[in-house]
Amino acid sequence: MITSDWPDRLRERGLRVTRQRLAVLEVVAAQPHKPADAIHSAVKEQLPEITVQSVYTVLHDLTARELLRRFDPPGSPACYETRTHDNHHHAICTRCGRIEDVECVHGEAPCLQAPASLGMQIQVADVVFRGICRECAAASEGLVGSGTAEA
Ligand SMILES: [Zn+2]
Ligand SMILES: [Zn+2]
Ligand SMILES: [Zn+2]
Repeated sequence: MITSDWPDRLRERGLRVTRQRLAVLEVVAAQPHKPADAIHSAVKEQLPEITVQSVYTVLHDLTARELLRRFDPPGSPACYETRTHDNHHHAICTRCGRIEDVECVHGEAPCLQAPASLGMQIQVADVVFRGICRECAAASEGLVGSGTAEA
């Protein structure tokens, strides 16, 4: 893992550099699209005393300063990533929950044009792709082939 310029980036956004913030940023950079409890387990390897509550606080502060982006997959807990400001979208596997990034063609929000008749100032248009990932597709083909598929 490349030790990046997180301390500088924290200071630029007016945040104090703390071990908790650095640990969370490094974990999220290495494992994007993970929910807070998974981030907590990974951060605990470096900082065994850190509580889930402090991880939530750190995630909240970093998201508010746009060092992290929060993504709310429909029906699943919010997850976090360090890839901010490119308005990229997500593709979710409906079987295993894997999340992949999808480039935004437009590049900034809102990506889709709302009809003028809506009369709202649109700030975000969420685009979520849903499907079945290659591994899940391969696994279900295997099950069908061997005749052991469960309903
Ligand atoms: Zn899958
Ligand atoms: Zn993403
Ligand atoms: Zn887009």
